[in-house]
Amino acid sequence: MNLTGLHFLLTYTCNYECDHCFTWGSPFASGTFTLNEIREVCDEAEKIGTVEIIFFEGGEPFLYYPIMLKGMEIAKQRGFKVGIVTNGYFGTALEDATEWLVAIKKIGIDALSVSNDELHYDDPKNSCATIVAEAARKLGLPVDFLNLEKPEDSLEKSMKEKGEPIVGGGVRFKGRAVEKLVEGLPRKPWDSFNECPDEDFEKLGRVHLDSLGYIHICQGVTLGNFKKTPLSEIVRGYRPQSEPIIGLLMTGGPAELVRKYNLEHEDSYIDACHLCYDARLKLRKRFPEKLAPDQMYGIMES
Ligand code: SF4
Repeated sequence: MNLTGLHFLLTYTCNYECDHCFTWGSPFASGTFTLNEIREVCDEAEKIGTVEIIFFEGGEPFLYYPIMLKGMEIAKQRGFKVGIVTNGYFGTALEDATEWLVAIKKIGIDALSVSNDELHYDDPKNSCATIVAEAARKLGLPVDFLNLEKPEDSLEKSMKEKGEPIVGGGVRFKGRAVEKLVEGLPRKPWDSFNECPDEDFEKLGRVHLDSLGYIHICQGVTLGNFKKTPLSEIVRGYRPQSEPIIGLLMTGGPAELVRKYNLEHEDSYIDACHLCYDARLKLRKRFPEKLAPDQMYGIMES
C-alpha cells in the first residue's frame, strides 16, 4: 500500500448542480470541515508517513474560502504539497480572479485544477474558468484544466473516428450521471463488467475524506470513518481482499457484486461504474458504513 494523496472534499456544497457530478454536489448540500478537523487529519497524515500531497476540493472549495486557505496553510506547515480543484466560478474578471488567487500564491500551491468543459460551461473558451486560469498563469501558479466530454459528443466522435459506439470522454456513470445522462447511450451486457476501470484497491494511492468523516476510495465506497477510528489506524488495518465490497470489486469487478449477493439487475449497462453504482444502491442497507454517506447516493442531509 502506498497512500500518497489525501483529498479533502471540503464541502458537498457547490454553486452548480452538474448532470455528471458523482458527488451529487449542489447548492442544497451542506457542511464543511472545521479547522480542528483539518489539523487532526494532517496529524494522522504525518503518522501514516507516505502522504505527499493534500488536495482541497468539493463540491466547490472556494465557497469556504477562509477555511480552504487556512487548511492549505496548515498542510503546508506540516511539509505537505497542496492542491485545489475548482470550477472557477469566481472568475468574473481578470483583476478580480487575481485578487482571489493572491492569498493562495502567498501560501504556495503545487497544483490548481480548474474544470472547464461543456458539462460545466456553455462556452468553455469564454468561461469564468478561463479567466481564473489566465490569472493563475500571470501569477505563476501551476494551473491546468480538467476537461470532460459530453457523453453524446464522445459517442459521435467514436462513430466518426472508429466506426463503433464508445462512450468515453471521461464521464463515469455513477452519482447524478446515472439519473441525468444515461438516456439513449449504448450499453453492454452486465456480465461483461468484470473489472473496475479506475481504482487500484491494493495500492490505494489516494483517498477522499468528507466532513462527515467518511474515507472514500471511490465516491461512496468507504474504508471507514475517521471520526470513529483514527485515519492512520484505518489505513494501517486496510485489508482490501477481506472488504465486503472492495474485495469483490478486486476479484471480478462490479459483476461480481451482482453474482455474490445475487442482486436484481438490468440486462445491460453503459459502463462498469453504472453497474457498480446500481449494485451498491441495492447493497446500502446491508453495508451502511461501507456504502456511505447518503449524499453520495443522491440523498441530501436535511
Ligand atoms: S467500478 Fe465502482 S469502484 Fe470502480 S471506479 Fe467505477 S464506481 Fe468506482
